[in-house]
Amino acid sequence: MQRDPQEIYLDCNATTHVIPEARRAVQQVMEDQFGNPSSSHLAGIRAKSVLEETRAAAARYLGVRPDSLIFTSGATEGIQLAVFSALIEGVSRIRSGDASRTVLLYGATEHKAVPEALRHWNQVLGNLFEVRAVRVDSDGRIDTSDLSNQLSTALLVCTMAANNETGVFQDLQALERIIRSHGNSVLWLVDSVQALGKLPIHYSQVSIDYAPFSGHKLYAPKGTGLLYVRPGTPITPMNVGGGQEKGLRSGTENLPGVAAMGAVFRLLEQQKESSQRVGSFCSEAELFEYRSLLKNALLSAFPSAKFASRDEVSIPTTLNFAVPGLTSRDLLDVFDAAGVRVSAGSACNSNIGKAPRSHVLDAMGLDPWRSEGAVRLSWGLATSQEEIQRAIQAIHRASRALSSSCIRVSSDAFQETSRAFDGVLQLRAGGANTWILVGAKASQCVIIDPLPELTDRLIQFVTCQKLEVLGVLDTHSHADHESSRSFLIQELSRVGFEVPSTPNLLGWPENHSALTSIEIRGRTYPALRFETSNEGALRWLVQVPTPGHTSDSQSYLWMSRGSTYPTFDLLEVDALFCGDLILAGGLGRTDFLSSDSEAMISSLQLLDHLLSDRTVVCPAHDYENTFATSWGAEKSSPQSLLRPALIALDRDSQARFVNEKKRVDQNLSAGVCVNPKDSGAQVLCGVVSAVSASLQVNQIASGGLPAFLRKTPSVRVIDVREPHEHELMQNWDSFLGGSHSVLNVPLSRFVNFSSEILKELQEQGELPPMVFLCRSGNRSLQAVRSLQRLGVSSAWTLEGGFALNT
Ligand code: PLP
Repeated sequence: MQRDPQEIYLDCNATTHVIPEARRAVQQVMEDQFGNPSSSHLAGIRAKSVLEETRAAAARYLGVRPDSLIFTSGATEGIQLAVFSALIEGVSRIRSGDASRTVLLYGATEHKAVPEALRHWNQVLGNLFEVRAVRVDSDGRIDTSDLSNQLSTALLVCTMAANNETGVFQDLQALERIIRSHGNSVLWLVDSVQALGKLPIHYSQVSIDYAPFSGHKLYAPKGTGLLYVRPGTPITPMNVGGGQEKGLRSGTENLPGVAAMGAVFRLLEQQKESSQRVGSFCSEAELFEYRSLLKNALLSAFPSAKFASRDEVSIPTTLNFAVPGLTSRDLLDVFDAAGVRVSAGSACNSNIGKAPRSHVLDAMGLDPWRSEGAVRLSWGLATSQEEIQRAIQAIHRASRALSSSCIRVSSDAFQETSRAFDGVLQLRAGGANTWILVGAKASQCVIIDPLPELTDRLIQFVTCQKLEVLGVLDTHSHADHESSRSFLIQELSRVGFEVPSTPNLLGWPENHSALTSIEIRGRTYPALRFETSNEGALRWLVQVPTPGHTSDSQSYLWMSRGSTYPTFDLLEVDALFCGDLILAGGLGRTDFLSSDSEAMISSLQLLDHLLSDRTVVCPAHDYENTFATSWGAEKSSPQSLLRPALIALDRDSQARFVNEKKRVDQNLSAGVCVNPKDSGAQVLCGVVSAVSASLQVNQIASGGLPAFLRKTPSVRVIDVREPHEHELMQNWDSFLGGSHSVLNVPLSRFVNFSSEILKELQEQGELPPMVFLCRSGNRSLQAVRSLQRLGVSSAWTLEGGFALNT
């Protein structure tokens, strides 16, 4: 697998590629100077000279003595060695009767390697010290009065030269004045990882005691680094043995890595003297130019973007920004699809649960949305003008794609027409679902179970699609979260969208021309009529009371006319929005004050009367990335109490169901799994089973897609990424060899697809093979699991997704 030459890498604060100069040095050492620097023969002497030449070059560039530098495996190791040494010094002072300095201070925005090392070594050494954070101001710079106030008892102060998330640099001269007002008895560590090559620091002119550096952040391979230790500063080795590095860090040196660092330092020395590009490295002026080009591009593509740091106090290689209404996940996905590799401002791992926050931006006091939505662009000395130009174009493409899929409302800069959406859209937050049902013909929608976290997203969708909101409905009064129904209605009205008023607590409209009633199996129910984009096709949303989970629980049935005889003149229920009555693999709890498990039996039996096995069931929660289940799958689920409820026709079997339900709910309240077989089940609004996670899935091994396509020409190829990501993929033909077209079925719209597939399966008796794709193979795996749960066995996922197959 080769690096895509079109890839735009703007994540240099995470790591960098290895430049040709460093690669050549590695190669030469591996082939010619491969001796052990500790050997006294010729090969050893030559190897040793590589080590010492690198040390000398680094010392010249950093302005320090060569013997003050220790080679390490990276900055994390350097930080451990420094912290351990400082603490050992503290312990020996305490032992000799001086317990005046027992506080370990670190800046609130430090990389986590620093506070973690302080806590770890403090614990290992018997918790003799107290670890405390020093506040930063809104610029991200150390609050000097907080530092001054805490210094009188400090043994060690850890600050950073430049921050990895924001690029904010510290005023080291000002910090030195404050720290040294306490003399040399305070030790000072400056994490210099992100400053190397970007900030001119002459280390022997500032009284820094320890400065760790990392090779892989500056175009050397991973596993390389340096620790500067000021002459006279205490140092205690952690690695002992062969006595390398003057006994301070035993272990045979990573000579190829050291040689690579040597090449980088020699380039840095030349670059410092020149205003021109030197070898792989651009000039400092170019770094500043890149920043202003990228910043302008971001502001024109996302006019409401907010930047985390001021240019005046940050290195010219980092931009950290957030856009109102967009999560970091949205931005990362769309940037990645546009070929730009960037990072979230914080550890970003999932679209379920609370959005992760950045401790750096939180410490700076930025609003939570900025911390949750932060994205970092970082580049470096080896980034080219051409790459920056391509990045600018990609930023505009990403912004347009987000607009056309209604993730954001178009700015004036782009007069995009967004595509009209028709059908069911699923939005998720914290394991809960909000459903939006849209009839595109008359541009009408209903929103079911709105979650407060999704208010902005819902408003954007409605505004962008120019929809009339027929109703904002709840399925019941929720126990685990407050409904944001009235808040959403109020916010919609602020932007000019009036929702029909209702006396009904759960939001069913009172007066609207779309209101009608429908008779199903001899009973009449209130309904809303939708016109879909399919010429003339109608859909109805029907309200059916289904008490049980709570006394006010309602189900909403999404119905259409059958398409084949004998059902074409009958209404069929395509989807059921049932709140917490049913969850994938189990039933909702009935141990709330207003719950009633006998009423739940009647509700389930009524639904069984109205639904068919292929009805897609859309609950209010999706703890397991199931998206939706089906009535048939639930009836045959061995863990679920649905089947016992459906066959509980006499008093005895009903009483048995009620008892069993009570037992299950008690286990849920105690946080225990329902059934010993059902390990991994989650608790909250009801039982869900982890069964889908344990299913064997059909997987195409990475690299195996071309052979699979040749062998299975009838296969349907389906991209499950969101439309804005799909739209940005440019090389489908080279990916699929030109043989297949690709269907886009985003997971947020998967319910529509599941419903169509179940219909097709019912009508045709079998389905053609389908292969699902996404970026990493994670979302396509979820799609295949979800379909397998519904009884579809002809779905395949491509292991490693586009990442390992292009
Ligand atoms: N300190 C800072 C500021 C960093 O950005 C990093 C890496 O992200 C580290 C320390 C750890 O460096 P290494 O990966 O070399 O252990």
